[in-house]
Amino acid sequence: MKRRDVLKGMGAIALYSSFPGVLAEFVSSCKSKAQTLRAGFFADDEFALIEEITDIILPKTSTPGGLETQVPYFLDLVVKNCLAPADQQSIQKGLKQLNADGKFSSLSKKEKITLVDKTDAAAFNNDADKAWFMALKRLALIGHLPAAYATGNLTLRPFSTVESVIWDSKKNKATGVRIIDTETMKTYEYFAPVIFLNASALATTKILLQSTSDRFPEGFANDSGVVGHYLMDHYSGPGAAAQFDILKDQYYFGQRSTSVYVPRFQNLQKKDRPFNRGYAYEVYVSRAEWTRGYHAPGTGEEWKDSLSAPGPWQASMFAFGECLPNYKNRVYLDKEKKDKWGLPVLNVEMEYGDNEKSMRAPMISDAMEMLQSGGPVGVSEITDASVPGMTIHEMGTARMGSDPKTSVLNRFNQCHSAPNVFITDGACMDSTACQNPSLTYMALTARACDYAVNELKKGNIK
Ligand SMILES: Cc1cc2nc3c(=O)[nH]c(=O)nc-3n(C[C@H](O)[C@H](O)[C@H](O)COP(=O)(O)OP(=O)(O)OC[C@H]3O[C@@H](n4cnc5c(N)ncnc54)[C@H](O)[C@@H]3O)c2cc1C
Repeated sequence: MKRRDVLKGMGAIALYSSFPGVLAEFVSSCKSKAQTLRAGFFADDEFALIEEITDIILPKTSTPGGLETQVPYFLDLVVKNCLAPADQQSIQKGLKQLNADGKFSSLSKKEKITLVDKTDAAAFNNDADKAWFMALKRLALIGHLPAAYATGNLTLRPFSTVESVIWDSKKNKATGVRIIDTETMKTYEYFAPVIFLNASALATTKILLQSTSDRFPEGFANDSGVVGHYLMDHYSGPGAAAQFDILKDQYYFGQRSTSVYVPRFQNLQKKDRPFNRGYAYEVYVSRAEWTRGYHAPGTGEEWKDSLSAPGPWQASMFAFGECLPNYKNRVYLDKEKKDKWGLPVLNVEMEYGDNEKSMRAPMISDAMEMLQSGGPVGVSEITDASVPGMTIHEMGTARMGSDPKTSVLNRFNQCHSAPNVFITDGACMDSTACQNPSLTYMALTARACDYAVNELKKGNIK
């Protein structure tokens, strides 16, 4: 069983590749009126409906609601610029169905809420007809972007790939980024007093390495020579799975069943294991689905019929181990091969070290022991190979540190050698811990933004 297979069922909206990373170029002029933000994808009646739905999904409480943060305007913009035509049409069709013959508009507020809740529940129960609602709702929940859009200072520029950071040798500072329009292949330059370079760990590192100049011959902000090095990814794969002969009358409703997280329990107060640091478990709980026929023994009438009913409850424990930093694990630009934009492809060299490998056996035996204690009908080891890149938590290739000789960024994610450039994605990490990383990236980003604004105000960044 693979973690990716488990995650696959969770569903995702198909966005074109440039969303949501470097999708914004900040412009200096402030457009204050929300009306000027209307991208014009939705017709007036559709837009009005989206406003009503937004207000139901994200009403004003003690904090601002979706209408105040201009969510409908953002939806209009993103649906227009970032969704594939099939997804655009599915949303329009869904809105039409919801308000067939003015049905929705003629309802009372209470009835509207009931109908939206019903649509939401159906979407969650995989009703394909209501997938449009899930898509719209997920976009509405990307709360920080609508809020930023509402300031009038955010411009969406999809179909763009950042090629390099522009270094102005006269001003002795980074002044902007150079991008390639991925449809026309034309190059454009955008300028800003402060640059946040966040294309995800490896892509950011690639941009740094591509940004060479007299000042930075080995890549932008690479005085230390560590850009591209110390690549890490959580050591995952091993664990255990169990089936339980209980709760057969229970099925999935809403967001059930509940999965579990087991935080790291090794080497906490004292070193109690023969390796450094340790691992946590993600535990996915579900009922076995019909494909179980492929993987389990059985033949005949009873067996065949049983495959069309929900299978037994099962729990799968996947370990996530800390990966220690190692200079030898690295990414670097290929000198020959180019991608379709004419940019060098990135080569990856990484292998797990002895410390990670020594966690493998206990990752399996601890999971077996925990699951066995829950009275299952069957427990089996998960022995999937652990290959770097498999956990998809790549990080560390432009790490932070207090010494500019051995790191790229300071503790505020600011480049030691370019104070107006910040990197707050996974590239900044100098250790992996064993938890999922994205919330940490977001927290670091919030802190770095606050710091950058204050530094700008103080005139320390010009
Ligand atoms: C299947 C899967 C499941 C995951 N599950 C979890 C989880 O449960 N919890 C967790 O914490 N983490 C999880 N992760 C990891 C998580 O997705 C990443 O850590 C997180 O998305 C990193 O955020 P980011 O903003 O740095 O990069 P991204 O979210 O990758 O955003 C970067 C953006 O920049 C764009 N971009 C790249 N290069 C360029 C360029 N040159 N020019 C312009 N734009 C560019 C990309 O298209 C992308 O939109 C998962 C990853 C995957 C793939």
